[in-house]
Amino acid sequence: MRESGSPPCQPRPETQLSRLGRPAAHPGPVNMPLHRASTIVFDTVAELEAAKAARFDKGTMFYGRFGTPDVFAFEGAIATLSGGVGTVAVPSGLAACVLPLVAFLKPGDHVLVTDSVYEPARTSLQAFIARSGVEVSYFDPRAGAQIAGQMRANTRLVYLESPGSLTFEVQDLPAIAAVARDKGVLTMCDNTWASPLYLKPLSLGVDLVVEAATKYVVGHSDAMIGTVTAADAAHHRLLRQAANWLGYRISPDDVYLAQRGLRTLAVRLERHYRTSLDLAAWLEGRPEVRRVLHPALPSHPDHALWRRDFSGASGLFAVELDTSKAGATIFAEALQLFSQGFSWGGYESLVLLTDPAHARTATRWDGQGTLVRLYAGLEDAEDLRADLQAGLERLKAFTNG
Ligand SMILES: *Cc1c(COP(=O)(O)O)cnc(C)c1O
Repeated sequence: MRESGSPPCQPRPETQLSRLGRPAAHPGPVNMPLHRASTIVFDTVAELEAAKAARFDKGTMFYGRFGTPDVFAFEGAIATLSGGVGTVAVPSGLAACVLPLVAFLKPGDHVLVTDSVYEPARTSLQAFIARSGVEVSYFDPRAGAQIAGQMRANTRLVYLESPGSLTFEVQDLPAIAAVARDKGVLTMCDNTWASPLYLKPLSLGVDLVVEAATKYVVGHSDAMIGTVTAADAAHHRLLRQAANWLGYRISPDDVYLAQRGLRTLAVRLERHYRTSLDLAAWLEGRPEVRRVLHPALPSHPDHALWRRDFSGASGLFAVELDTSKAGATIFAEALQLFSQGFSWGGYESLVLLTDPAHARTATRWDGQGTLVRLYAGLEDAEDLRADLQAGLERLKAFTNG
């Protein structure tokens, strides 16, 4: 039995969420105070020079842009939850997608990207990374170990995202990571859908994990932040350097909101998981719906991979409605509890018409109807279902009228 008062040696995620990144000094506040800082002052030349020499080391206060204790506490919490050695927090999820590309790729290198990649990241790859002399090509998200066939002599990085946030293909991360590691190729994975709670890509052999903390970590649609976590200390240092090349500094207010959101991540996710699966299963039985893309549904083509690697599902999924864009518009605009808008991960339900055909180059989107992305918020599941039902009735009237 453990001594009373000492923490359990293997805290479970909920316990970690409540303990990580809190100030150690007692008496003191429960939460880490904000640090508003550009200049950090030193008493001696020697102290200032020592801080400069150590400025890329975790936890060194040197100048505001290199981080302050509130940022370090948040980064440490994400690193621990993700099973990594260190995290770099950046001003948005997209900045986190791009940071490893800037840190690890140089002209002449090749990056292999999942065809299901977050669309704005594809734009950054085309408009910015490719322009810097890096070869960019795309692969079928369901390639698994077959990805070996697309590796080139100059392949340096494989960019994964699982599941895709429009089309929900689940990737065989251990198989892809093993092939890449064998060839000395780095892997990164955008893990925003599952959050650090429901999937741990680093434990599956992936080198770098990206989170748009804007979504579930912040959790209230009121701040933007991204994180990149590395399994290797040298990689973490390079990421810190690249964040500095780019001049990033996170606002202390946003770090505070992200740290606060983290405290309730487990209870929120559990609810999003339950409600989204409820709604997805119900939608599957409706005649207006061609198919439902939710990895936790047994009908999903990658359900077995989801069961093997994930410990839960989130609130984001898609339905292919058996209708045109005009019909899907009738449906979306009839909804009272699902607002139209980008992003997700907050407490409020969302609906978005999507068109994945235009966002891919290596594979073809095989949908016949119109793909509508739904995000189940924290509202009552029965109310959400009634709202969807009313929307489908309106669609039916439109189709028959
Ligand atoms: C939203 C999102 C991002 C980008 O995050 P922002 O904070 O909006 O820049 C990256 N990847 C995925 C999968 C996302 O859903």
